[in-house]
Amino acid sequence: TEKFLLQSEKLLIAGQLAAGIAHEVRNPLTAIKGFLQLLEHNFKDDKSYFEIICSEINRIETILSELLTLAKPKNMEYKQNDIRQLLEETITLLDTEALMNSVEIKTLYDAELPELLCDENQLKQVFINFIKNSIEAMPNGGSITVEAKQQESNYLQLRFIDTGCGIPEDLLKKIEEPFFTTKEKGTGLGLMISKQIIENHHGRIQYRSTGNGTMVELTLPVNHIDSIKPPRHEHLPQYRLA
Ligand code: ADP
Ligand code: MG
Repeated sequence: TEKFLLQSEKLLIAGQLAAGIAHEVRNPLTAIKGFLQLLEHNFKDDKSYFEIICSEINRIETILSELLTLAKPKNMEYKQNDIRQLLEETITLLDTEALMNSVEIKTLYDAELPELLCDENQLKQVFINFIKNSIEAMPNGGSITVEAKQQESNYLQLRFIDTGCGIPEDLLKKIEEPFFTTKEKGTGLGLMISKQIIENHHGRIQYRSTGNGTMVELTLPVNHIDSIKPPRHEHLPQYRLA
């Protein structure tokens, strides 16, 4: 069995590769974009060529920046975080976008929530991906309910429930695949990246969807490092080496 990589290890390697490539490609792309802008006046006869090139470069940039948020363990910083605060900060970030799309964001939190050992930025990225998907699923407005509650003694359960278009059952199994998107301007990377980040936190994501909307349920162990951290030194028996 040692010959075979675990699915999670494969994902990790793929993620690191993707992030590495994204980093390498971004520099030359920035240069191309800069020089292209200098050439803008040369396109005077046909501006639409210039616009197509620019919009395609912007699209590549979007894909690269999404790939760059892929979990890179070296950059991960696990700290105790107030989950309520992380959620509130994410919602504040998306307030304007929600408002512009007539989407109301409601929250429902347990009065007492345990602290969560997590990488703040990565987790916020996951919340942003879910909430943005919900907003995009409601072109005529609607609501998103964000719930947070404690489950058993050491799990947090978060839910993002929207009143959007829903996901047809045959597509549900594909939504976490890289580049799977039903949107004209989508990258199809948001949920793949979210899956990767949540796996790094030893949690899991479940999607439930009907024609009336979608519920994304996130279950996270409060202190996942505990299970893999070696025992504290003072609890070790006093063996002498050699
Ligand atoms: P993108 O948003 O760029 O398309 P994602 O990985 O975030 O990529 O999502 C993949 C696909 O899953 C979306 O294109 C959409 O079809 C579907 N999806 C995800 N979340 C929702 C949601 N809340 N409601 C409806 N469809 C969704
Ligand atoms: Mg998305």
